[in-house]
Amino acid sequence: MNAFVQGTLTFFAILAGIYAATVLIYFALGYGITWLNDRNPERRIQKGRRGEKRKAVEIRQSMASILVTCTSVAIGLFAQYQGWTFTPWAFSWWTAGPLFLLCMVLFDAWFYFAHRLLHTKLFYKYHLLHHRSVAPTVWSNDSIGLVDTALSQGFYAVIAFVVPFPPLILLAHRLFDQINGTFGHAGFEYFASPTARYPWPLLCTTYHDQHHAEFKYNYANYFSFWDRVLGTISPVYDRRVETLEGEAPAISLKRPSQSAPTQEATATSDR
Ligand SMILES: [Zn+2]
Ligand SMILES: [Zn+2]
Repeated sequence: MNAFVQGTLTFFAILAGIYAATVLIYFALGYGITWLNDRNPERRIQKGRRGEKRKAVEIRQSMASILVTCTSVAIGLFAQYQGWTFTPWAFSWWTAGPLFLLCMVLFDAWFYFAHRLLHTKLFYKYHLLHHRSVAPTVWSNDSIGLVDTALSQGFYAVIAFVVPFPPLILLAHRLFDQINGTFGHAGFEYFASPTARYPWPLLCTTYHDQHHAEFKYNYANYFSFWDRVLGTISPVYDRRVETLEGEAPAISLKRPSQSAPTQEATATSDR
């Protein structure tokens, strides 16, 4: 077989594998977290809105956007496989932790600045689709325009040429980001804790939920670092997390009884 045909087949095999796995994870997480949310209605962040009404349209958009994300990953891995990049570092369990953390730090910086760019006048038209989800749900994480996705997820295609991460680290990071992003858009808070607020750099679901609801704060993905340094963190974020910590009941695995209507049942707004 000629080398070009073989290369093309290899690229599409990598892409197909990553795409199938990501779609599977998207639905498994979506339905799994929805199951948990149904049992913990008082953990809803935006009490009066119901983003779930957008489920069908968001799933449809996600199937296309996930293809763009996976293409970025496939480009990075394929370039490594072909020897077009620095030779990737060998994988070892001793270095896996620090390398994974480095990948998170670099991705977070990439995401923050790409996201700030997408909020400029010139680029907002590409980002607008994602912001139609005012009260995000588990289906909203990948409900993103294709140019927007190429910018925010282009990291994998680029980083392979800059840092010789072992392929397994890039894949593990992609998996982690899918899980993190789905929880980050879940609309229900399970992670409010002292480590999710100042002086810690970590976040909880409320962080990105506020970005959707209030629009002009909280651009980062994993850490509040860039938002704090550049003054784009919501001035009420830390206080809200502290309040949620105090209010949160124990996580329930049982459906609430029908006879006791919650705020959930009485909400009327549609998003
Ligand atoms: Zn945004
Ligand atoms: Zn979002």
